[in-house]
Amino acid sequence: MSDCLFCKIVAGDLPADKVYEDDHILAFRDIAPKAKTHILVIPKRHITNLSTVEESEWPVVTHALQQLTPIAHSEGLEGFRVITNNGADGGQEVFHMHWHLLGGGRLPGF
Ligand code: 5GP
Ligand code: ZN
Repeated sequence: MSDCLFCKIVAGDLPADKVYEDDHILAFRDIAPKAKTHILVIPKRHITNLSTVEESEWPVVTHALQQLTPIAHSEGLEGFRVITNNGADGGQEVFHMHWHLLGGGRLPGF
C-alpha cells in the first residue's frame, strides 16, 4: 500500500534498523522503544490488522508468530512480551499489522 509507513520500510523507501528478514516477514527496532529491547515484527505484505486477515494470509501470520521466539533469542531474551494493538480503540497507530516484541530485564506487570 503506497501510503503505508511499514510498506515503505519493506520496500526500502524508508530506513529501519533491521534485526531479521525472510521472504514473508521483517523485524526491526521500534523508533521509540518502550522497553530495553523493542522490536516490531511485520508481515511483508500489507495486512491492516488481526481483524482483517484473509483466509489465504493466515500462514503468514502463523509464520510470524513462529519466528518471535527465535528473534527474541537472537536478542538474548529468554522472557519477553508480545503485543498487537488492534484497531484505533486498541491503540493501533500504524495500520499495517505488527507485533511488538518487548524485553530486557523484568518487565512490569499490567
Ligand atoms: P502501534 O501503536 O500502531 O501498535 O505501534 C506503532 C509503533 O510504530 C510505535 O511503537 C512507534 O514507535 C513505531 N513507529 C512509528 N513510526 C516508526 C518508524 O518510522 N520507524 C520505526 N522503526 N518505528 C516506528
Ligand atoms: Zn503496509
